[in-house]
Amino acid sequence: MPAETRLWWLERFVARHRDKLAWIHVGMFFGFMALMIIPLFLPLPGDQATFYDNFTLFANFVIWGLWFPLVFVSVIFTGRSWCGVLCPLGAASEWANGIGMKRPVPRWVRWEGTPIVSFIVITVLAQTVDARGFPQGIAIIFGLAFACAVVLGLVYGPGKKKRPWCRHMCPIGLMLGVFSRIGAIQFAPKRPRAGGDAYAEKGPCPTMIDLNRKAESRHCIECFRCVHPEAKGGLKLIARWPGAEVAQIRKYDPNASEIWFLFLATGLSIGGFLWLALPQYDWLRQFVGTWAIERGWYWIGTAGPAWLMSVHPDGREVYTWLDFFMITVSMLACAVALTAVLAALTSLSSSIAGALGADLRFRARFVEQAYAYMPVAMVSLAIGLGGELFEALPLLGVPAALIPAIKLGLFALGVLWSLVLGSRLLAGQGLRGAKRSLALLPLIAGVAVIGLAWWPAIFGL
Ligand code: SF4
Ligand code: SF4
Repeated sequence: MPAETRLWWLERFVARHRDKLAWIHVGMFFGFMALMIIPLFLPLPGDQATFYDNFTLFANFVIWGLWFPLVFVSVIFTGRSWCGVLCPLGAASEWANGIGMKRPVPRWVRWEGTPIVSFIVITVLAQTVDARGFPQGIAIIFGLAFACAVVLGLVYGPGKKKRPWCRHMCPIGLMLGVFSRIGAIQFAPKRPRAGGDAYAEKGPCPTMIDLNRKAESRHCIECFRCVHPEAKGGLKLIARWPGAEVAQIRKYDPNASEIWFLFLATGLSIGGFLWLALPQYDWLRQFVGTWAIERGWYWIGTAGPAWLMSVHPDGREVYTWLDFFMITVSMLACAVALTAVLAALTSLSSSIAGALGADLRFRARFVEQAYAYMPVAMVSLAIGLGGELFEALPLLGVPAALIPAIKLGLFALGVLWSLVLGSRLLAGQGLRGAKRSLALLPLIAGVAVIGLAWWPAIFGL
């Protein structure tokens, strides 16, 4: 395949059937609602129940075992197609915007850190309400995201049918957007204008992309609204090699906020697994609990509100304020620690590269080189989050003994991809031979740190 191929057939197919997209959104909306709401009215599954014969377990498997990991994997092949074609939240937000107040999007929403905060809040809340374990937890997480998407759509976003939630605040969209940079799909202007990516509240794009200046994939939700195959203007759909954009990231608007998100999100997700897996967590919890009780803080041993933490006496799980604080603090500590380590290693790589004659200033090199972690972070996340999917593979005839090997193979692929990417990024900065290898060493250490941190979650202790 050449470096880039225009997908005429897909452009024409979507242009012909664009009017049917609304029906897909309606179907997805009712499907998602059924998965979220019906289990709330069913008794908790018995110990012998499986997802074959119990709707609650079936809904849980569809959401965490299929939807979550597969949406991540789909980004490599089709970019943010989930957002533009299937997501009922984004569609509801856009619909609300069509009848809403259409106020200009305020600066606090447009701030690059807003989706990072939103991601942290939702990820930690998903743990404290145990969204993987109980349908009430799923309903809280998705209900909150749904309400925010609709309210933001109703209030902000001048122009026709904009999606301020999808551009600025959606935690899933942020993650998909960052990883879509390694995707095999790109929407590119037919008549590109110089000046780099820009924000445009006017125009047809629901995520406010200035179409003729579009370069990066991050904010494109693949709604196809700008694609008119036979017209001279607008955007065209291109297939490219996965990773092509990241390997030449300097041409595609590299962004420091993405890097901080990549570091923090990786650490936070690892933290969400480690507190369950590491025995040290129980020891620390015991220590903090005793310390608090000795000071007369008895409230710390009581259960809090069910919208903030898991309170399911029937399901033999009741979190106390102690659990809430311990889970939150451990996850945040893990995120900060991993961010500090990766930032230090990337700084070292950037400094070495600078001393050996690489181009760009320190900060730009730092940002560019940090994109090398993207493949290993994404693959680890997909394997870690897809635990249920791997557990279900024996039902499809895959021998159970083969599953660790499959995980290891995917994991090794992510590691290898990151290392090759790091090397290419350094080559792009003008380093060759031994100089490049030397500057690569800290990045290799960073990739190893991500791999080792995920190891207990993916392969057990
Ligand atoms: S950004 Fe979020 S709400 Fe919007 S379409 Fe994507 S996943 Fe759905
Ligand atoms: S660039 Fe085009 S396909 Fe992408 S979100 Fe904007 S209008 Fe939709």
